[in-house]
Amino acid sequence: MSRLDVFIDRMVSQRACLDYAIAQTAALPGPVYELGLGNGRTYHHMREKIAGRPIYVFERAVASHPDSTPGDDFTILGDVTETLPAALGRFGATASLIHADLGGHNLAKNDAFARQISPLVEPLLAVGGLMVSSDRMYFTGLAEQELPAGAVPGRCFIYRR
Ligand code: SAM
Repeated sequence: MSRLDVFIDRMVSQRACLDYAIAQTAALPGPVYELGLGNGRTYHHMREKIAGRPIYVFERAVASHPDSTPGDDFTILGDVTETLPAALGRFGATASLIHADLGGHNLAKNDAFARQISPLVEPLLAVGGLMVSSDRMYFTGLAEQELPAGAVPGRCFIYRR
């Protein structure tokens, strides 16, 4: 597989998983978290598709497209290893949907980081909430879900509390 193939699979999977997770959690009132703003494409997609739920973005250095940049009140600036525990104190276990796309090109590093933050992400999710991730996560109390049509196995993962 070429890097282009892998990239396309990741993008198609992100959209399929996000659309599925947004629909599945539509009845939950809790906030939505975007972990890793980057260019802001997935944030923009969620903002277009989610109504009635605030979207908080966790990012260490905002460098997104101007059309895809959240307001200061919805930007949680800093390293997620510090901001996720702080969010638990602020919001409790209320998140209806958490999307994480924090990785780079080094797969081993991505996997090690996913292991590190899994216990920080897990307690933030409300009962019935979903977590969508580009990397496999290592949760103890969340169940991995079947992927929706259009998502490529291994390119996206969905977990439910
Ligand atoms: N989904 C985004 C999009 O559609 O444009 C792309 C996200 S990009 C692959 C990953 C982002 O995660 C980068 O902006 C990076 O700064 C952020 N990030 C990576 N590790 C982080 C950390 N430990 N704390 C906070 N942000 C982090």
